[in-house]
Amino acid sequence: MPRTATVKRLRPQPEFPLDSHPEVSLDFTRVKQYLARHPYKKPVLLVDLEIVRTKARRFQTALPRVRPHFAVKANPDPRVLKALIQEGCGFEIASIAELDLLISLGVPVAEIFYSNPMKSRAYLEYASAKGVEWFVVDSVEEIRKVQSVKADAKMYLRIDAPNIGSDWPLAGKFGAHMNDIPELIQAAVDCKADLAGVTFHVGSQCLNPENWRVGMERARKVFAAMRTVGLSPRLLNLGGGYPVRHVKPIPSIETSAEVINKELRHFGPEVQGIAEPGRYLASDAGYFICRVVGTATRNNQRWMYWDAGVFGGVIETTEGLRYIIYTERDGEPVAWNVAGPTCDSVDVVMRDELLPADLQEGDMIFIKNAGAYTTAYASNFNGFPLPEVATLGS
Ligand SMILES: *Cc1c(COP(=O)(O)O)cnc(C)c1O
Repeated sequence: MPRTATVKRLRPQPEFPLDSHPEVSLDFTRVKQYLARHPYKKPVLLVDLEIVRTKARRFQTALPRVRPHFAVKANPDPRVLKALIQEGCGFEIASIAELDLLISLGVPVAEIFYSNPMKSRAYLEYASAKGVEWFVVDSVEEIRKVQSVKADAKMYLRIDAPNIGSDWPLAGKFGAHMNDIPELIQAAVDCKADLAGVTFHVGSQCLNPENWRVGMERARKVFAAMRTVGLSPRLLNLGGGYPVRHVKPIPSIETSAEVINKELRHFGPEVQGIAEPGRYLASDAGYFICRVVGTATRNNQRWMYWDAGVFGGVIETTEGLRYIIYTERDGEPVAWNVAGPTCDSVDVVMRDELLPADLQEGDMIFIKNAGAYTTAYASNFNGFPLPEVATLGS
């Protein structure tokens, strides 16, 4: 008997408007003014706290049902965290050092979400003793581990969500596959764990709002499966990924919010909505300032060495993120390879980046919208100093 081939149709990807709303960044003239008052000594991230606040308000206005819980790892500077506390944000942590930092700033511990899917038993014990209530899980082992440390822990299940069109995809390392959900739910029931919600992460710098819609659709299915076995799901955590403007046009937060708010109508009032923006709240507020240590021409290629490279905070370029970079030279743009100051061969920031031909030793480099995932990554490797963080406003 002839079999009819089932033709899998790919759902056409909807088009989203790009750059529909103005994005506000730290003003370059204020960066220059800052440097005039504070002579340059070493790489510095200059952060305008007013912009951090503006971004927090804009997020809350766009997504009134979703409380932002800042991903501390994006920028753990206490002044940034304080501004966000005052704007009513909660927090998401990866480690107990981040927990201690938030406690020292007076953040109510019950509002801190422990969203690292892989937590050591020692960290769980510490966080639990300090009063953390919510813990992410994405495997049977982690459900049992969390439950054995804190029997009444509220757990939220991290599920796999599409990372299509994210500049920094995360899928694969974390997130339960939909096929494994029944087993995970059963494991929670068997050990009497309070599996109380769902989360996902669409990938960082996500330019495709459709990923949230699909993630929320999956969350809805998982909620239904949880209810069938008597669990009471009551947390929907939309994770991070909200993009900021660098060289490519982006869907604004209002555009992503339209998709999310529409999908939220399928969730009842018993469901608490939160999100974990990192980049969105911190990037636009900061300029990363560093300096050219020297230049060289090797085999007809121009090389430029900055005093901050992959180990000094400028690392996201290695995964393809492209920053807007300003200098004070106006020579014609030519292709440069840019490296950091260390002796390590992986310390190459960018290849064939178009920058002014006349850049030379001592010139300043200004990296726009670099308030997230820069200083947070920096190390003292090779003995170079950590970049400092300076702030404007309060
Ligand atoms: C890093 C991270 C975030 C923040 O991601 P952004 O892309 O900066 O918004 C949120 N949640 C979790 C679990 C993360 O690991």
